[in-house]
Amino acid sequence: MYRVSYDLHIHSCLSPCGDEDMTPANIAAMAALKELQVIALTDHNSCGNCPAAAAEAARNGLVFLPGMELTTQEEVHVLCLFSELSQAMAFSAYVYGRLLPMENRPEIFGRQLVYNERDELAGEERRMLAGSTDIPFLDAQGLAEDYGGLMIPAHIDKNANSLLHNLGFVPEGSRFSCVETARPERWEELAKSHRFLRGCRRICNSDAHYLGDIHEAEYFLEVRERSARGVLEALRGKNSGGALGKNS
Ligand SMILES: [Zn+2]
Ligand SMILES: [Zn+2]
Repeated sequence: MYRVSYDLHIHSCLSPCGDEDMTPANIAAMAALKELQVIALTDHNSCGNCPAAAAEAARNGLVFLPGMELTTQEEVHVLCLFSELSQAMAFSAYVYGRLLPMENRPEIFGRQLVYNERDELAGEERRMLAGSTDIPFLDAQGLAEDYGGLMIPAHIDKNANSLLHNLGFVPEGSRFSCVETARPERWEELAKSHRFLRGCRRICNSDAHYLGDIHEAEYFLEVRERSARGVLEALRGKNSGGALGKNS
């Protein structure tokens, strides 16, 4: 088993709320500087900057997971992570068709910038990516799996856009295996009130919208192989590695 440092929730300049300095090249360089070994790019409802981020991560010797932060019909944020870029891009194209048809208003929400693999600005997404989709929470897991990925309820303990805030409970029929917690110190308390969570792995990510907020190497995963596949396997719980561990 290998112990790898990770940050699996990072926004790029494609998210309207992401800083324009969050280019794929800057993100990968900053992650490497912070001694992270595994990163994922998770923009709102799009994997549009994942091809560029995959190339930049490779240049910096990082394991990269293409992903997105999907907004469900209930406005719950969930991370969808993949091991293959092609899977993520197909998933992204599908989600695009289920986004509410709203135009972005860059002067209010910020621009949504797409970069290519040569670190050049390649375009601007006009459709509002930070709105919600019409995908119900209970469908998200199966949908991510259909494309070879994994769904992780994001910042489950945050007071906005989270499963426990928006729904207030873990719905019957849920079968996710991992959750993201924004406040790991409150995990025990949370698991006491929500029985389902006791069987889940938990991860803690930065949800960075600014370069400086990307995590240092402070959380680690035990993986059987140092690859995107190995990371997904660990998050699915198919090995004995603990998903959350701060400096341990
Ligand atoms: Zn979120
Ligand atoms: Zn986020």
